[in-house]
Amino acid sequence: MPQFAEVALPVPMRQNFTYQIPTNLAWPLEVGMRVRVPFGRQQLIGLVVNISDECALPPQQLKAINVVLDSSPLLSEPLYKLTLWAARYYLCSQGQMLTQALPVALRKGASAAPEFISYYALTDKGAAATLASLKRSPAQQKILQQLQQGELTTEEVQVLELSKTAIKALKDKDWIGLYERPLVADRHWREQLELGEQPLKLNKQQAVAVAALTVQTGYQCTLLEGITGSGKTEVYLSLLETVLKQGKQALILVPEIGLTPQTINRFKRRFNVTIAVIHSGLTDKQRLDAWRQARCGEAAIIIGTRSALFTPMMWPGVIILDEEHDASFKQQEGVGYHARDLAVMRGHLEDIPVVLGSATPSLETLHNALNGRYAHLQLGERAGGALKVRQGIIDIRNLPLRAGMSQPLLNEMRLHLQAGNQVLLFLNRRGFAPALICHECGYLHECDRCDAFFTVHQALGEIRCHHCGNQYAIPRQCHHCGSTMLQGQGIGTEQLEAMLTKEFPDYPVVRIDRDTTSRKGSLEKQLAAIHRGEYKILVGTQMLAKGHHFPDVTLVGLLDVDGALFSADFRAPERFGQLYTQVAGRAGRASKPGTVLLQTHQSDNPLLKDLLHRGYGEFARSQLSERQQALLPPAWHMILIKAEAHQASDADTFLAEFAALLPQDNAFEVIGPMPAPLDRKAGKFRRQLLVQAADRKRLQQVFEQLLPQAEALTSGKRCRWSLDRDPQDLL
Ligand code: ADP
Ligand code: ZN
Ligand code: ZN
Repeated sequence: MPQFAEVALPVPMRQNFTYQIPTNLAWPLEVGMRVRVPFGRQQLIGLVVNISDECALPPQQLKAINVVLDSSPLLSEPLYKLTLWAARYYLCSQGQMLTQALPVALRKGASAAPEFISYYALTDKGAAATLASLKRSPAQQKILQQLQQGELTTEEVQVLELSKTAIKALKDKDWIGLYERPLVADRHWREQLELGEQPLKLNKQQAVAVAALTVQTGYQCTLLEGITGSGKTEVYLSLLETVLKQGKQALILVPEIGLTPQTINRFKRRFNVTIAVIHSGLTDKQRLDAWRQARCGEAAIIIGTRSALFTPMMWPGVIILDEEHDASFKQQEGVGYHARDLAVMRGHLEDIPVVLGSATPSLETLHNALNGRYAHLQLGERAGGALKVRQGIIDIRNLPLRAGMSQPLLNEMRLHLQAGNQVLLFLNRRGFAPALICHECGYLHECDRCDAFFTVHQALGEIRCHHCGNQYAIPRQCHHCGSTMLQGQGIGTEQLEAMLTKEFPDYPVVRIDRDTTSRKGSLEKQLAAIHRGEYKILVGTQMLAKGHHFPDVTLVGLLDVDGALFSADFRAPERFGQLYTQVAGRAGRASKPGTVLLQTHQSDNPLLKDLLHRGYGEFARSQLSERQQALLPPAWHMILIKAEAHQASDADTFLAEFAALLPQDNAFEVIGPMPAPLDRKAGKFRRQLLVQAADRKRLQQVFEQLLPQAEALTSGKRCRWSLDRDPQDLL
């Protein structure tokens, strides 16, 4: 019997801990089981990652495992390997990564064994009832119709947002019942898959894509690049049919904002199978239930946001990431993993295909598709009727602006409103630390040492280049024309809303941003009111661009194009290109074509021209070659070291000492320490160090070697610091 177990614990120390294995265990301990162990004065739950007969420490110094919580390993081998790989790649402890991968209830010690599944189904009485008899109660009718297709788990009822009152009414009438059965038996979908609706007849491009995807066996990653409305979802559905018929499960990851009842419904309507839905709004219990359903194979389809990536599957078949460019796939707090990159790795380890879909692929994915690492499929036509957008640029140099709006845009707005249509206005909220631009001549102040734009730090009274660290005092006059009208401040959505309410008193305004939608369900309510036409003017941030179609919007105005395009973040142009394309694709309909107007000081900017005249695809390709020339991702690889402290010098000292540990040569660059583009937050000074390396392996090795030294620095105790691998957001 081996004596020692290495246990990964959810603590920030980048190491595992060794414990003695009790001799009186009822079953042999295996790697991947949870154990409860003493840690300091606490009891912690961790995962066994290694078992051996040898131990570097004297055994009498070791404590023993208290309880073994599982009778078999919790994660399949590929999934377990994925978390270990991710811990190494993201430079955190295995315990921290495993914590990301497990539902909270399991981390707290709940049993992983399948239990019961509760579901709603029709009673005999309900089965005999007709939909027509519920004509006067649409909510009940909807539920009856759903249940005629098949049972619904309690989780499904919740995510589909079916009315609780209607459920109760139907139960009181004894038309439906709430039942329970053991969660192991029902995998009928593997023997015989029933389709709830007939698939659409695929167009030629869709058929080609489906044919290419369905012949894949084993790992292969594919970029499905298809303009908005080209029928990507239809391709997923068709691929899913093949996968499910082979008796395999599908994992579908969607952006946070894309996980709507409509999305779930589309899959539910097509396939009569249990769908496990996993997102951050679930209770611990619901989340564990969904996890169990996926793990035992009851759920044929798993749909979820970022963290659903770690959901176990009994018979893994395919992983699909929709809107793969979406920033919500990268976790910003704590362990900053990227669900897209881990999904590809998981596909590799499970040896199953991965599909990345988008109308506006990220440059990382495009890079891999163009260099042949990923397969590349394209859908270039709209599946349901063509729609052409009229686009135009308003040169706002020297024009008076009111809350960021120029007179030409206000005039155009009036025309659209008077015609009975809706107008959508976009503001860029990433404008915390904007570029320095001259309102008179449009000159953008550019770093004299490199190709990047200066960022204005009002509070520090300086402009900084976040590419090389170069800095000056904020100039009083434009370097090009001498004007004193230099702009470096964004406009707020509230200010804009107030101005519009005054200017257009007859047309109700709605504002959609983080502040107005922070309460659960409030975004849905606002969107529903927009669709009913209760609002005529929509003011919003990026949130409005994703996933929602606005058929009655005929004018879209992008106000702060310069702030969006020329920010300190090297991803700003890419993000803007995506935003612009997504917005342009969602406004109007075939009978009511949309107009998109952009306000800018830089009407001749080649980037902007590229985007407008040649479209996202070409724009992205030229961006990619610019990134390569500038030695930026995806060509080079990045780690951002962030430190914050009440005293700026504390953060600076630590980062300077960290920097001294790093090599510097022509394949390894260290920039900083310097203020973060957003240099103060909640009273703390934020500083950063940017590390860029040509070689990913070398970057990894360097950090693995120096982290123990960096952790030992006493200056690190006087600030809060963290690492962000492949940062998506330099703010
Ligand atoms: P995407 O996911 O690329 O935005 P969708 O799959 O949602 O596109 O399709 C857009 C619209 O076109 C949907 O209303 C869908 O029902 C319809 N559609 C998709 N494929 C077809 C097809 N082959 N024939 C007819 N309509 C289609
Ligand atoms: Zn000027
Ligand atoms: Zn510079």
